[in-house]
Amino acid sequence: MFQFNYKLKVAERVKAGCNRHPRYNPEREGRGGIKSGCSTCFSLSLIYIRRGYLWTLLTGSF
Ligand SMILES: [Zn+2]
Repeated sequence: MFQFNYKLKVAERVKAGCNRHPRYNPEREGRGGIKSGCSTCFSLSLIYIRRGYLWTLLTGSF
């Protein structure tokens, strides 16, 4: 139940993306793809990194 809720929430936030850089994809471009230090893109990359980290904790597949 918790896993499902968390996954859904993060998917929605990442899908929302950045208004100024709608094509920015944290999964593919990472922090190197952030244009001119955009804070929204930076937040997206953090969410993506934390999602992977939390998923690792939840599933126990280190
Ligand atoms: Zn941006």
